[in-house]
Amino acid sequence: MFAEVAIPLNVYQTFTYRLPESFSGEAKAGCRVLVPFGRQLVTGYIVDLHDGLRETGQEDDGFEIRNVEELFDTEPLVTPELLELTKWIADYYYAAWGEVIKSSLPAGINAEAETIVSITAEGRLALADAESKRSKTSTRFEALALIAENGMIGAGELAKHFTKARAAAVIRELERAGHVSITRKLQSAIAKPKQQQAVRLIDRAPAEGSKPLSEAQERVANLLFESAEPVAFARLAEMAGVSASVIKTLEKRGYVEVFTREIRRDPLAHLGAADPADPTAGMTLTAKQQEALDQIVDKLKEDQYAAFLLHGVTGSGKTEVYMRAMRATVDRGKTALMLVPEISLTPMFAKRLRAHFGDAVAILHSSLSEGERLDEWNRIRTGEARVCIGARSAVFAPLEDIGLIVVDEEHEASYKQEESPRYHGRDTAIMRANRADAVVILGSATPSMESFHNAHTDKYHYIRLAERIGGRPLADVEIVDMREVFNRHGKQQVFSDEMLAAIRENFARGEQTLVLLNRRGYSSFTLCRTCGHTSRCPNCDVTLTFHRNESRLVCHYCNHIERVPRTCPDCEGPYINYVGEGTEQIEALLKQMNPQMRIARLDRDTTRRRGAFEKLLNEFAGGDIDLMVGTQMIAKGHDFHNVTLVCVISVDAGLSMPDFRAAERTFQLLTQVSGRAGRGEKAGRVIIQSYHTEHYALQFAREQNYEKFYQHEINFRQAMHYPPFVALINLLIRHTDYSKAASMAAETARLVREADTEKVLRVLGPAPAPLSRLKGEYRQQILIKTRYRRQAREALDAAMDDLKKRKQDTRMITIEVDPVNMM
Ligand code: ADP
Ligand code: ZN
Repeated sequence: MFAEVAIPLNVYQTFTYRLPESFSGEAKAGCRVLVPFGRQLVTGYIVDLHDGLRETGQEDDGFEIRNVEELFDTEPLVTPELLELTKWIADYYYAAWGEVIKSSLPAGINAEAETIVSITAEGRLALADAESKRSKTSTRFEALALIAENGMIGAGELAKHFTKARAAAVIRELERAGHVSITRKLQSAIAKPKQQQAVRLIDRAPAEGSKPLSEAQERVANLLFESAEPVAFARLAEMAGVSASVIKTLEKRGYVEVFTREIRRDPLAHLGAADPADPTAGMTLTAKQQEALDQIVDKLKEDQYAAFLLHGVTGSGKTEVYMRAMRATVDRGKTALMLVPEISLTPMFAKRLRAHFGDAVAILHSSLSEGERLDEWNRIRTGEARVCIGARSAVFAPLEDIGLIVVDEEHEASYKQEESPRYHGRDTAIMRANRADAVVILGSATPSMESFHNAHTDKYHYIRLAERIGGRPLADVEIVDMREVFNRHGKQQVFSDEMLAAIRENFARGEQTLVLLNRRGYSSFTLCRTCGHTSRCPNCDVTLTFHRNESRLVCHYCNHIERVPRTCPDCEGPYINYVGEGTEQIEALLKQMNPQMRIARLDRDTTRRRGAFEKLLNEFAGGDIDLMVGTQMIAKGHDFHNVTLVCVISVDAGLSMPDFRAAERTFQLLTQVSGRAGRGEKAGRVIIQSYHTEHYALQFAREQNYEKFYQHEINFRQAMHYPPFVALINLLIRHTDYSKAASMAAETARLVREADTEKVLRVLGPAPAPLSRLKGEYRQQILIKTRYRRQAREALDAAMDDLKKRKQDTRMITIEVDPVNMM
């Protein structure tokens, strides 16, 4: 029996291994195995089993077929459905299948094999010999002595005493000399099920004539008797007000038993049990919502693939529709999945979930600990959880018999994974639904151009929710022309008079304000007034951002940190200006101008600690903060009823990004942030400052008119040959040596053009990427535009093969299909 194994390394093929008799019966596709690969042992995934050798070419190349060393699972970890889906991703996004499978599993489950080094009899002799001669000083004998202490040691442990490379070299030397032998042990899942000490009452009368219980012991016994169930050790001690020794004594005397039990880490535990009185659970849908739901449920009943675009303004009740659709799916005996962007899993949202689904819902989100995620994953795998909510990678949730996938805020850029495997969560969801005969709902107030185009061309069913719940009006959006403000004051202003006045009025009315600026830090760069020098990152082609609170200059791309110069590092001039405001400065300025207001800031700097994000949001929701300054983190998904004013300091940097999606992003951001204003009883107001007030993205955002924006933007996309009219593939070529990057890029472009025999690709470049240097690497890019994905794939494969034949290092090249970030 042979196994095809996908390996989570940068290799684009599967490998054949022989399965020893002992595993043959138990191995299945989707199980993990330990296999030799080159000189290492790696954990791979069986993707297929077969009797004969395939034409893999391995044997022709003189490779011997090696054995599977270890089988880790007897039940497949990856379901057949997900094996297929990951294969599709690997093919579509040019990723290694093994890598895709690995990233589809919760990190805690990806077991590693550890090398265990044991000393042999010969080793002991050699050591004794060396010791007697006092020649133990070499690393080799130092290592041997360490191994001899316990007879064996893990390679990782040894690496702590030396370096990793040194330890590996020494192990090899010792093995060659026959002084040690090597075995491999699987380090089981890093995140083990959580265990707890618990106590239960033993149902047995105390022995004749034994001492009566002390008062403290009596309390413990009574508590246990009353609870009728085991109680956690620590909790019991606390409730009875006794020390641990009291319980231990009871155990010794045979009254109770202390044991270890596995408990589930519940990420929603802090919410308490589902509250049936929660108003959202019993809410009656509006006529529009009901109509939307009916259409979706009709399709659910067909058990066939169908895609919906649910285009509803913020606050139109989309979330409620998702919840009901998921409910309907579960009631039909199927499972449901909902994807949300990274940021928007707020406690409020989690509460709504609990109200609808109680314990049947599992959450897979990056804010969970590894252990929590593993537990949630297991609950899905075993079928205990029938509904799963999570960020991008939850698209791989091992739900069986999936009936519905919801992608909320489908336009969000965070659905695209920016590292290998570079898949798009939304598009993967559509593909998963398609293969599983499930329904997929894409929801947004500002659909991506791609999705709206698909709705227009009838690939998706289109549902519009044009009004807010309760007929609440959309916020009133004003644009302030900062050129006029400049003329009025004769110099540049951070805040227009209009904005300041609005902030103060809003405060006086006791209402809350959000202030948005998409740049953190204090100021965006330093400028020497004498010579014009600006401090730049030594690794990246960007200026350093001034963070005043920590008093340092920081690169926002690689985190390079410098002290703030007192004088110009170039000309030693004493006048250093800090140019361009960041959130830190906006916060400081507003505090200075409005000392009576309670002002806080929400950005990556203030939410670094676990729980800080939720804490700030809770304080804001509870009315302990009057005004919140923040980056786009504040723009999304939150539902604060007392926010009636949203101020956007500037959108100009976003608009002028060298990215064809700059206008779309700006429009989306403004619409989203406008949706934060006036969600309660009171009307909302939005003020946007800009030096480019005539830009169509701003004008249509002011009118809150998505359709007009779409019409304008789609014409631009068509004229300029951009998605959704063509597919884009971006090749990024990186190297620390500029000329290596440039020559590799030139050769790659030439080979791709040559391989494009049908002449259906437009190959642009190579040219320096907009961020031409990042983290010490020069970056060149080649952009391919085409309507023919298959031909693009073939041309790229041919070019890559060619490069490999010429012994070029293709690892320098990153292939990004359907790129979202063009920088
Ligand atoms: P969206 O997801 O479109 O932004 P939500 O579903 O969050 O909208 O609804 C906005 C607000 O209206 C929420 O506070 C929600 O509880 C409330 N809501 C939604 N549907 C109804 C309904 N049918 N009746 C009353 N309130 C509703
Ligand atoms: Zn940098």
